[in-house]
Amino acid sequence: MNLQEYQAKQLLAQYGVPVPAGEVCATPAAAKDAAGKLFSGGHARVVIKAQIHAGGRGKGTFKSGFQGGVKICRTADEAMKMAAAMLGQVLVTKQTGPEGRLVGKVLVAGAPNIKKEFYCAVLLDRALSRPVFMASTEGGMDIEQVACDQPEKIVKESINPAAGFLPFQGRKLAVALGLKGDLIASAARIFGGLYKTWWECDASLVEINPLCLIAGPEGQESLLAIDAKMSLDDNALYRHPNILAMRDLAEEAPLEIEAGKFNLNYIKLDGSIACLVNGAGLAMATMDIIQHFGGKPANFLDVGGGASQEQVTAAFRIILSDPNVKGILVNIFGGIMQCDIIAAGIVAAAKESRLGLPLIVRLEGNNAPLGREILRGSGLAIISGDSMADAAQKAVRAVECAGAEERV
Ligand code: ADP
Ligand code: MG
Repeated sequence: MNLQEYQAKQLLAQYGVPVPAGEVCATPAAAKDAAGKLFSGGHARVVIKAQIHAGGRGKGTFKSGFQGGVKICRTADEAMKMAAAMLGQVLVTKQTGPEGRLVGKVLVAGAPNIKKEFYCAVLLDRALSRPVFMASTEGGMDIEQVACDQPEKIVKESINPAAGFLPFQGRKLAVALGLKGDLIASAARIFGGLYKTWWECDASLVEINPLCLIAGPEGQESLLAIDAKMSLDDNALYRHPNILAMRDLAEEAPLEIEAGKFNLNYIKLDGSIACLVNGAGLAMATMDIIQHFGGKPANFLDVGGGASQEQVTAAFRIILSDPNVKGILVNIFGGIMQCDIIAAGIVAAAKESRLGLPLIVRLEGNNAPLGREILRGSGLAIISGDSMADAAQKAVRAVECAGAEERV
């Protein structure tokens, strides 16, 4: 699960990371009020920021033609105008893909005077099986480019999970960023807070980009987290009801939400062969073998070890609501469950959904012959696969033939 910038900043602030004062707003009038409050509180400028689950907003473009999802304003009226230009519009950035994201909320925040922008993040280093802290002097809007062109500009500090992030590591990173004097201690505190947020919230990524060096009215310098991004480990969300409450369903793929209701593990992909499989390992292997024979999987779908007829029916409904699907490959290994029960579920689901697409089924394991018998006796045009390879080849061929018919 991903969080919006304003939510990530709320959590970071709870762990002592300084963030600009701000308010999230859903209407231009609310944005005007929020900006007005910031101006009367002493801020010389405010910023209006589109809240979407993607970065690159500053350099993004709205489908309306309006440029930029991050805008600095000097009056409350201007803030209202900018909010009106963003709310209800679709913002396309490097990270959203061409379809973009609908902006339902904007963050109205104080916009201090930025002298320098740094990058810092905590994530999991899978090669070392440890958390890793990454920091760079080249913060701001093009960190992906920096990682490609100047990887030496990104410093890394590996963290021993038993000891946690140690204060000397924070100071070391601060010095590597070229910070001096009191700023070293404040950066080390911020880095400690960032790590603690990552650890205690069970996050997979917490990123501050940019972490800014700010010049106050009398020239005094301080550090402030200007943008934040946070992804959480879904399997640990049950431990964090406060974070789960931040879930933004409007940002998630509707089919994946529907699948979640039936305990189905569904991830949409962009191919044409839908897979319905029991067990994540078998689902991965099925996707691989489809690719091996020249096809493209339309999804990953694991119905779990003991799928019920209701789940199989829901799985068919979800698969069929993807217009790219041109054929379905069911690959079931009856280890815990009986193949005849699954076969009955498939027949019922195919009849209920008035399935018009090629359906290829491979059943193996408990009661497999009985299951195949049920499929044969169903009167439906189900293609039976003798092995995984056979079923995958038949699925690829059936989809190719369906495509050829469409073209004729
Ligand atoms: P994104 O990463 O999605 O483009 P950011 O929040 O990082 O969005 O904003 C892009 C840039 O806009 C920042 O690098 C910073 O220069 C400027 N900016 C963002 N928020 C503020 C703010 N509160 N005050 C001043 N400048 C800001
Ligand atoms: Mg950013």
